[in-house]
Amino acid sequence: MIILAIESSCDETSAAVLQDGKILSNVIATQAIHQKYGGVVPELASRAHQQQIIPVVEKSLTDAQVTKSELNAIAFTRGPGLLGALLVGTSFAKAMALGLGIPLIDIHHMQAHILAHFIDDPQPKFPFLCLTVSGGHTQIVKVTDHLSMEIIGQTQDDAVGEAFDKTAKLLNLPYPGGPLIDKYAQTGDPLRFAFPLVEMPGYDYSFSGIKTAFMYFLKKETTKDEAFIHKNMADICASIQHTLVQILLRKLKKAAKETGICEIAIAGGVSANSGLRKSLQEEGKKLGWNVYIPKFEYCTDNAAMIAMAAYYKGLKGHFCGQDVSALPRMSW
Ligand code: ATP
Ligand code: MG
Ligand code: FE
Repeated sequence: MIILAIESSCDETSAAVLQDGKILSNVIATQAIHQKYGGVVPELASRAHQQQIIPVVEKSLTDAQVTKSELNAIAFTRGPGLLGALLVGTSFAKAMALGLGIPLIDIHHMQAHILAHFIDDPQPKFPFLCLTVSGGHTQIVKVTDHLSMEIIGQTQDDAVGEAFDKTAKLLNLPYPGGPLIDKYAQTGDPLRFAFPLVEMPGYDYSFSGIKTAFMYFLKKETTKDEAFIHKNMADICASIQHTLVQILLRKLKKAAKETGICEIAIAGGVSANSGLRKSLQEEGKKLGWNVYIPKFEYCTDNAAMIAMAAYYKGLKGHFCGQDVSALPRMSW
């Protein structure tokens, strides 16, 4: 089975080709236009998807050395995400499937982030816990099968990616600031500044408090010394990253202990964070976990993960009709 998959939920236009569970190509066009606005502008994202979708799909087919007539199904991200952005991928996939007379497979973006673990070896064994951390989500998911997942804890306000990006914005770093905080943190002291950890019930998270605490901290320090940020960038970034990673790991450890599950995976854009990757490896060694971390290119938004999810749905014959519509708040 050869599947073409399309991802357009946010600010990456991506297309991938998969044959019998193996990824043949994965083309990602990141939209640079949002940088000067300090965040993703939905209308601009939709327009950029429209401009990029044809060249991106064509390149994915060329890279895979597959022709349109060889395709057996078209998969697309149905949600969650920005409505206008999702509509571009959804409409394109529907039109192409109709034109070629082949079935459609609708994919849940967050489930696909988790299934990115099945692109390469080693693959987690069921059941496993997946800490799904991205620009819009922070969840602990219990995965019992490729198509059977349950959220056991999640953020009640901001996502951790948002916390990274918003603190970066307060430091006058361009969007998306997460990778830049990571970069500056490499040479900083993670214990130089301390920020309060908010206790949430169960396996849930909250990140809005830390953002506010960070804002007041910066206000106080920059009043005393205007050049505070400039002088201490590495230590500030290392400290905030350390705090965010500690918050993430505390609940993950609690969930692993109480469920007795030692197969631990991370997924989503923030799993590209080197501090999180390192702490997870260290904790895993201490606690006897098998830790699974995806390759960088499969952490942030990409169509390879959509193709992988489509492969498992396709095997079970889970196709959708031409009447399917994009779902910005798609449930599980
Ligand atoms: P969602 O998947 O929830 O719909 P999204 O698709 O926007 O949201 P992703 O593309 O999966 O999210 O991830 C983007 C997020 O990952 C951004 O918040 C970005 O700052 C963050 N991120 C990427 N690399 C790093 C890094 N090295 N350190 C910290 N954060 C990072
Ligand atoms: Mg993105
Ligand atoms: Fe994503």
